[in-house]
Amino acid sequence: MTLQETDDKELSFDDFGLNREITRAVHDLGYEAPSPIQQKTIPLILEGKDIIGQAQTGTGKTAAFSLPLLEKIDPKSKQVQALILTPTRELAIQVAEAIHSYAKNLGGVRVLPVYGGQSISQQIRHLRSGVQIIVGTPGRIMDHIRRETVKIDNLKLMVLDEADEMLRMGFIEDVEWILSHTPETRQTALFSATMPREVKRIAERHLKDAVNVQIERKTLTVPTVSQFYINLSERQKTDVLTRILEAESTQGEAVLIFHRTKLGAADLTDKLQARGYAAEAMHGDMNQKQRENVIKRLKNGKVEIVVATDVAARGLDVEQITAVINYDMPSDTESYVHRIGRTGRAGREGKAILFVTPRQQRMLRDIERYTKQKIEPLKLPTKADVAARRVSLLKDKIIATLTEQDLELYLSLVENMADETMFDISEIAAAATFLAVGEKRLEVAVEPEPEQFSFSEDGMVRLFIDIGRQHRINPGDIVGAIANEADIPGKAIGAIDVNDRYTLVDIPSQFVERVLTKMKQSKIRKQRMNLRLAAGIDTGPKSEPRRDKKVDSEHHPSKKKQFRRENANPADPGSRTPKRKPKKSFKEKPGKNAFSKFSKGRKKKNK
Ligand code: AMP
Repeated sequence: MTLQETDDKELSFDDFGLNREITRAVHDLGYEAPSPIQQKTIPLILEGKDIIGQAQTGTGKTAAFSLPLLEKIDPKSKQVQALILTPTRELAIQVAEAIHSYAKNLGGVRVLPVYGGQSISQQIRHLRSGVQIIVGTPGRIMDHIRRETVKIDNLKLMVLDEADEMLRMGFIEDVEWILSHTPETRQTALFSATMPREVKRIAERHLKDAVNVQIERKTLTVPTVSQFYINLSERQKTDVLTRILEAESTQGEAVLIFHRTKLGAADLTDKLQARGYAAEAMHGDMNQKQRENVIKRLKNGKVEIVVATDVAARGLDVEQITAVINYDMPSDTESYVHRIGRTGRAGREGKAILFVTPRQQRMLRDIERYTKQKIEPLKLPTKADVAARRVSLLKDKIIATLTEQDLELYLSLVENMADETMFDISEIAAAATFLAVGEKRLEVAVEPEPEQFSFSEDGMVRLFIDIGRQHRINPGDIVGAIANEADIPGKAIGAIDVNDRYTLVDIPSQFVERVLTKMKQSKIRKQRMNLRLAAGIDTGPKSEPRRDKKVDSEHHPSKKKQFRRENANPADPGSRTPKRKPKKSFKEKPGKNAFSKFSKGRKKKNK
């Protein structure tokens, strides 16, 4: 099956007529082209229309409303001109930071995140100094409006971000209260991933002639590619990627990695090159000739990895690409289909891997629904897999050299060496192999196994707490502690499974970072505890042994030897008894290795 390409004219950020300082900031951030939601929303908001945008995190919706919003702010006036409501403080901070970055070249525009849990007097001090854009959670904003520390009489624009989440968290009445205190003349934009009845009702009641913005779905043929996903945090991406690459890459095949921004693509390319990969970037800052060069090098095997942006990789048709890795989530389902269509070309088998962070669970499900295909969880290759793979690749290479190359010259070199020195042929071969392996070596770098998020129900992340029934913990203690310390609604907390020595608890993905940070120093029932992401993708709740408490046989003196013997890993010389053999015996060894065909009939002359 092939992919039907879209030949829409590509819009650029320069086409919206935005202030040049805003587009400059966007270019500096490495955004190449507006995402579909941005293409549709930016002109409408600029025109002054109320909009209902059906979009979720990862689609670029923040910039979709923030860029036209900035265009409407008068930096000379110190009054509040735009108010953005978000369901959580994390989102408030994230949105405020994004706006701050888009406004960096606009002198005098000030944006403030305002949320519960932060000192109100400090907020008031900041507010007094003159802020034009406020991003906040409904409760605290209401508080400020009542105290008159936030005046919204001159509000030009109001944004409801993640309206369905605000509804789910019980904030919808507060949202309506705030809306009813804003001037009639304000413009309103509402964003929601889903459109429950209550959200529709708010839109009908408070928006005027609103335009619905939804990303049209074109019919695309989904290519026959095996698809996988892996749950991870932003921080883990590079390590997980390297692990996958180690296990995936094969001679003559190439991997295409997608990054959302050109800066990110360039940065990741540098990191991969530093790790010894023949990687090259392909993005919109490169001219046609440069891109063609990359493709040429890809085709003739000089490049094994290309890190590309969506724009640069459009229409790329190179049969060597056997895997596509979505390092960043695509901005919409269609773009996912385009991306994975870069592999499995010319009837070859293709594989696609999607990196999914906790907040992107919905997108994963959307993609499955859209493509009507199941995306399977990827089992991350273990260090042993990687090591075994390196050894097997090396063996293949050596065998290929033995069969394909004329080695007469080298053979006499080795034999001369063996004659002239104390070393026998196998030792010389070992040294030559060591040199041939080069920088990458055969041992796997000592890096911690990346912990993987364990997801349970829809959008929930499973956390592991190292105390349980033995510590007289019950589910109520867990709810109480988490709700209190992390300031999240108790009813948002999902399943709790208290075991003898540990407890597993499901937390909505959007709260995970907060719970992990806030609970770092906390106690439950006056007992110190450690809380972290539960490990393993498909680990059932009860089967999860504590990783950190597993018997470490390597450090158990009596088991040490046995462990070494049983687990000696040919790929990892370090796992064998490290002692070097005593100096060689002078006996000839039967040539039972790959060199045997050359050694036959050539008696080693020992000194
Ligand atoms: P959002 O959906 O607003 O949470 O955005 C998701 C991510 O996409 C953020 O990291 C943005 O910085 C990034 N982003 C937004 N618009 C673009 C764009 N046009 N090109 C590349 N990245 C973008």
